[in-house]
Amino acid sequence: MIVIGGGLAGLSSAVALAEAGHRVRLLEKRPHLGGRAASYVLPGGEHVDNCQHVTLGCCTNLDDFYRRVGSADKIRFYDRLLFAAPDGRRGAMEAFPLPAPLHMAPSFASFPLLGWADKRAIARALLAIARSGGRPTDLSNDAGSITMLAWLRKHRQTERAIRRFWEVILVSALDEQLDRIDARYGIDVFWKAFLSTRGGYRVGIPCAPLGELYDGCKEAIGQRGGEVLLRSGVRGFQVTGNQVTGIAREDGSVETADYYVAAVPQDVLPALLPAEVVEREPVFLNLRNLRTSPITGVHLWFDRIVMKEPFLTLLDSTTQWVFNKTQLYKTQLSGGVAPEGQYLQLVISASYSLVPRSRQEIIDLCLKDLQNVLPAIREAKLVKGTVVKETSATFSPAPGSDQWRPAQKSPLAGLFLAGDWTFTGWPSTMEGAVRSGYLAAEAILSDLGAPQKFLQPDLPAEGLARLWARES
Ligand SMILES: Cc1cc2nc3c(=O)[nH]c(=O)nc-3n(C[C@H](O)[C@H](O)[C@H](O)COP(=O)(O)OP(=O)(O)OC[C@H]3O[C@@H](n4cnc5c(N)ncnc54)[C@H](O)[C@@H]3O)c2cc1C
Repeated sequence: MIVIGGGLAGLSSAVALAEAGHRVRLLEKRPHLGGRAASYVLPGGEHVDNCQHVTLGCCTNLDDFYRRVGSADKIRFYDRLLFAAPDGRRGAMEAFPLPAPLHMAPSFASFPLLGWADKRAIARALLAIARSGGRPTDLSNDAGSITMLAWLRKHRQTERAIRRFWEVILVSALDEQLDRIDARYGIDVFWKAFLSTRGGYRVGIPCAPLGELYDGCKEAIGQRGGEVLLRSGVRGFQVTGNQVTGIAREDGSVETADYYVAAVPQDVLPALLPAEVVEREPVFLNLRNLRTSPITGVHLWFDRIVMKEPFLTLLDSTTQWVFNKTQLYKTQLSGGVAPEGQYLQLVISASYSLVPRSRQEIIDLCLKDLQNVLPAIREAKLVKGTVVKETSATFSPAPGSDQWRPAQKSPLAGLFLAGDWTFTGWPSTMEGAVRSGYLAAEAILSDLGAPQKFLQPDLPAEGLARLWARES
């Protein structure tokens, strides 16, 4: 079997197929594995993630994948979410020993960065989601799916509740603005992460560079006689009639296999297929309807310790999340920075307004945000700063976008699709990518007449949420 693409979708399908006893050859264009969730070494010697990646307790398939490849112990879970307002005040959200969906109610009630009118509105909307088992009936109108913002307005949310609660969580979870998110996706985040279970919201952060999480993949694939080839780009598929008969590599060689998994981004796949195949198959042609949204990562190295918390969510700021990489790695990160220095990584999702800005402008904007919530920065020296703009970071979960997401079994015999953009029911995330990889492996094994399950179920609903999930 040949898997093209060494991101999480390609890796998870390759590992699953190898575990099912198949010889897999994985071809990755770049010199490292991980795709968008990768890390690399900067010219100055620092090993940095492409961008900080976090998982949540409800991401059951990503967790399963990390276990299979032996990297689950490199993910540390945090139960406490800390928010900071521009005036420096902090507020925390965490679970109390109460049944779902009431487990966060005490910290929500005492959360100092929202007023009572905001909280009442939020509680009403959350209850509507919980009582419907995560499936409210008012997610569409005669024109089709509605946006998350439209749903929130319908449920009479205050401006501050939208800005300081719904937007903060959903823009980072879905990498899109509320007026461009299909309400179905937004509701799903709250049901799976905050309402149906007590642990779904827990934030998992790697305590090592992302690249180290994939070390076990080569071994898992190699055990069944397969191999992982880096710097091995594929130029295109050879198609005869309705059948994929081979692939042409960028080095000019041609390879054949019984099955092919295309685990490349959605804008790359059509370019690998003959033009007439793309024109005749709506599955491939429709991929151009999936829009993408940007994420900007800002890496800052200071000459001293400026932050004590492991990570912070900023309210009413351009900067959305700040990760204290020095503390998260708990190792001394060098690279020209004094030993007592600190490395912070900032993340801004749906960063449309930053795309045209210069790197220095972005750093200046972020420093201004940070000075409000981390006053020690005013005295500190910024030793170095880097900005990574990913203009097509994820596909946009726009209303109706699901109709353009193809199943893992393609219309061409022998070709299966994996990628966060294929149909998984999940947004563009590491969890979505692993789900797609497992589903592609399952589809191949079914085609072979030897079906096997890899997809893990969602966390089961608990407490009161369990009753409501059953009724819905
Ligand atoms: C900046 C940023 C921040 C993010 N933050 C988070 C987060 O916090 N949490 C989260 O869950 N998700 C996050 N995501 C989303 C997550 O990274 C992706 O959903 C996931 O990694 C996609 O995996 P994939 O395998 O589907 O695609 P990709 O990772 O894009 O993998 C595709 C692979 O195919 C390779 N390839 C392309 N063309 C060829 C070719 N011709 N031949 C061979 N190989 C080829 C590419 O090099 C790449 O390795 C983030 C994404 C970005 C960009």
